Amino acid sequence: METSSKIRSFFVKLNPDITIENLGGEGLAFIFKGKKPGKRILFRAELDGLPIQESGQHYYRSKIEGRGHLCGHDGHMTIICGLGEKLAAQRPETGEVVLLFQPAEETGEGARRILADSNFQQIKPDFAFALHNLPGFPLHQVITRKETFAAGSTGLTISLTGRTSHAAHPDAGINPAPAIAHLIQLLPKLSQKLKKFALVTVIHVEIGSLAFGTSAGKGSLSLTIRAFDQRDLESLIEMITSEAKRIASAENLGCEFSFVESFAVSKNDPNAAEIAERVMKDLGLDILEKPEPFRWSEDFGLFSQSCPAYLFGLGAGENCPQLHEPTYDFPDELIETGVRIFEGIARSLAWIK
Ligand SMILES: [Zn+2]
Ligand SMILES: [Zn+2]
Repeated sequence: METSSKIRSFFVKLNPDITIENLGGEGLAFIFKGKKPGKRILFRAELDGLPIQESGQHYYRSKIEGRGHLCGHDGHMTIICGLGEKLAAQRPETGEVVLLFQPAEETGEGARRILADSNFQQIKPDFAFALHNLPGFPLHQVITRKETFAAGSTGLTISLTGRTSHAAHPDAGINPAPAIAHLIQLLPKLSQKLKKFALVTVIHVEIGSLAFGTSAGKGSLSLTIRAFDQRDLESLIEMITSEAKRIASAENLGCEFSFVESFAVSKNDPNAAEIAERVMKDLGLDILEKPEPFRWSEDFGLFSQSCPAYLFGLGAGENCPQLHEPTYDFPDELIETGVRIFEGIARSLAWIK
């Protein structure tokens, strides 16, 4: 909320043509219109920090106990603010540029909320672009891919309900332990049925409670499911839920599913890639075409499933601590590189058909 109001006050002085507030929650969008009509192009930054105590000693470290910008979203926001300054100084020739600050990227809820907001129609883009800084890659290197850039994924909790009974008479109740044991063995193997990469990881399991006189009457199994192809992800979810239902019903157990932190596959559109990569080449940047997609997920994936989009990585240095580590620190040198790439893309609007 405070981040959002800081961004809003920064943009007031840039005098955008349209400001949309409370987009999908605390989200903000600023529209800079060109002189002639044309394509609408969107650049996305993320507003959210993380519930991690920052341990770096920089003077600008987070002042809020237990929370910090340890994914570099503060850096991404600064890049989009820098792009805003460029657009305020010189409006695009044609079309319009939308600068979007989305909430809740880390949980995969923000993009969904933005797309579901009725005000989204005002900013529904012809092309959408975003970047993420990537520690472990040389500073300023562009990391890109044709088609899938990052996996889609979802958390799934399977809750099984049976009936408790005396531990001396487990046969009088319905204990979910055998079904859960079976599911733990079976579900991770289902990913092997798909041709492309897919993965099912068991992350948590719970059966009954620490009551030694009681045979458990309920339990749950939580998994993270991921795939490089959106259809694979959907069919894997379908296989997992139908196997869970089959096993639960064979044991007379109630079975419920709850999905959390769901991210769509981030896929790169070839035309959007061409526009961006031409700019990157003109800027003389080192471009790495990554052979495999990233196994992690990005909330931008949902935008990429709704319009032509392009997400790329910007190297944050080989020695930069990894994202979400307590000592992570966004390298400020990337701000100018990010602004120059995005400005180049925005100025390309005139020749996009
Ligand atoms: Zn993150
Ligand atoms: Zn992030």
